[in-house]
Amino acid sequence: MRKIPYGRQDINAEDVAAVIDALQADFITQGPKIPAFEEAFADYIGCKYAVAVANGTAALHLAAMALDVDTQSRVITSPITFTASANCIRYCGGSVEFADIDPETVTLDIEAVRRKLEAAPAGTYSGIIPVDFAGYAVDLEAFRTLADEFGLWLLEDACHAPGGFFTDRQGHQQHCGNGQFADLAIFSFHPVKHIACGEGGMITTNNKALYEKLCVLRTHGITKDPQVMDKNDGGWYYEMHTLGYNYRLTDFQAALGSSQLERAAAKLDRRRAIARRYDEAFADFTPIQPIAPPADGGHAYHLYVILSDQRKALYDHLRTQGIFAQIHYIPVHTQPYYRALAEQPVHCPAAEAYYERCLSLPMYPTLSDEEQDFVIETIRQFFA
Ligand SMILES: *Cc1c(COP(=O)(O)O)cnc(C)c1O
Repeated sequence: MRKIPYGRQDINAEDVAAVIDALQADFITQGPKIPAFEEAFADYIGCKYAVAVANGTAALHLAAMALDVDTQSRVITSPITFTASANCIRYCGGSVEFADIDPETVTLDIEAVRRKLEAAPAGTYSGIIPVDFAGYAVDLEAFRTLADEFGLWLLEDACHAPGGFFTDRQGHQQHCGNGQFADLAIFSFHPVKHIACGEGGMITTNNKALYEKLCVLRTHGITKDPQVMDKNDGGWYYEMHTLGYNYRLTDFQAALGSSQLERAAAKLDRRRAIARRYDEAFADFTPIQPIAPPADGGHAYHLYVILSDQRKALYDHLRTQGIFAQIHYIPVHTQPYYRALAEQPVHCPAAEAYYERCLSLPMYPTLSDEEQDFVIETIRQFFA
């Protein structure tokens, strides 16, 4: 029986050739392909600076470090995300709080965040991590206004949304990760995401000081810049100024990333076309409800999520037909680790209700129309 996953990478002959070429070069880590990928990615996203790292989680960790998260920091994020969006604060010893989602968009509810901020003494919180969930671009202009009001930083988890955008108050398209509103944004190049590097991640920003900090943190906190070193003993000399990590990407992964990036816009178009076919197929089909996309067409469709009262039975039935739908996500505040950490039980009713009913249908550029029709037909038959 054929298997249809919920997501998968698309690697073609050019991608393979690019990796082979990189493997035969002199430098297979931190060679010329890294800055080339960073520049091409910054160009695609529309930001000034991009820092390539080992994976999306490393991107989050370094972002939290660059934003000076420490044991005094209290940060708000969405419960409907991958656990890494919250874990990055814990790596730095900070505490994480979850504000509920807006059930219409499944992204962080700005009013729920505002209520938290207003209920606490000034200076309680240090930052907010909104997540462009499923590819639905968060209105970062509104979050920036709120963050400024309370003196907070803004870190956008844009793992689901390279190429996605929201429309600002002036009517301009603001692309996810473009650094116009958030201090930093992060992306993942895990194979189910839009751009595959095997493992890989990127941090984007328009802030030069943060950019320079990230470059040093990515490689052990070591600098070779004569301008900032205390002294210079010679060509071999370097100084470690802060505690960093080895979170580098390899040159051959960057070569794969650059090659993938060339097709990213076309693949995003394909994702949007698949979403339109699902939308049409289920428009008058009451047993399931898709999450309505934003009207401006800015959804990046990492995921195509439907809601159903019979989610578990539907999930099990699809598996018997070789269709591997998925659940995104188990609310992070309900994970035993976060429950144990919470001072009092945390409830996010909209996120919990969403989790009971959500299902991510197959969504990836190489999903054929015929395979998609089989998915749609199998769902219809289940409810017949
Ligand atoms: C995938 C993902 C991450 C983590 O990225 P990795 O590259 O797997 O470490 C973080 N946040 C979100 C929302 C993700 O989807």
